[in-house]
Amino acid sequence: MDKKLFELISESADFKQIKAEMANAQGQCYCIMNADKFLRESFLEVLLCSVYCEREMSPCGQCNRCKQVENKNNIDICYFGEDEGLVKKESIERLLESAITKPYEFSRKFLIVKNGDGLSEQGQNMLLKMLEELPAFDTVIILCSGTQKILPTIRSRSRNFLLHSLGASALVQIIGSSERSLNIIKCTDANFGKAIALDKTKEFDDMYKYALTILFNFEKKADYTNYSGYLQRNREKLELILYIMKGVFYMALKGDIDCTLPKIKLAKIVEHISYLEINLLKRQNKLMVIDDLLMGILKIKNEVK
Ligand SMILES: [Zn+2]
Repeated sequence: MDKKLFELISESADFKQIKAEMANAQGQCYCIMNADKFLRESFLEVLLCSVYCEREMSPCGQCNRCKQVENKNNIDICYFGEDEGLVKKESIERLLESAITKPYEFSRKFLIVKNGDGLSEQGQNMLLKMLEELPAFDTVIILCSGTQKILPTIRSRSRNFLLHSLGASALVQIIGSSERSLNIIKCTDANFGKAIALDKTKEFDDMYKYALTILFNFEKKADYTNYSGYLQRNREKLELILYIMKGVFYMALKGDIDCTLPKIKLAKIVEHISYLEINLLKRQNKLMVIDDLLMGILKIKNEVK
């Protein structure tokens, strides 16, 4: 993990609170929530380092045990389910079996569901009984985007933490404060995972410039071919282009970019792009998405009201 990010997380109030709680907990389940997947996973990594770190200034992020956590080589930290999508019944069965096994190397063991959003109602019900009788050496951690995906019965048996975002100023410490970096931070609304990934994406500059052109210059049907040409040439990266374009219109909506388009139209365009992002996820034909995108923006821009 980025050293600065590790530091920022380990200095955060959320971290100190959960670390202190977890130090004495036995047989406890935690739901750790934040909409930013990257942030909650990074948080988990630092938290686990703090449990196993062998240095006095724990967590250091550098010692062998911290490295073991980072590389997922700690035999007493078990992950269940895939990174995305539904957590399969087999994964939960494996978790239930694992819960009754003593730790191999250390005094405590962690059972982690990284994608709590992927737990079905049935899956969560399978976990319930285990949570009631969790052995003292076990700690269960469910990472998820928010409370809405987790059943009240699970939540009432867990300690629930809604992580605060580290915010734009923390992001500046990681990706810098150049004009490009600041644009990335605004464009992603200070989402850590997205901002750090975009910072490493060299096409960002082109895509950002393209989005600005659509915001300012795309007014008439006659421009259509020009603008759809760029999208068609880059259609392998359409998802990213849509994300950045949505970010740029959102920046204009918030007043981060000066623009004369009425706010109601900007909001409609942001909504339109979000809708197309979903269609893209559902694997709708990319050329159709491109056509919908441009025609939609043009229509909203030229609406009389
Ligand atoms: Zn360490």
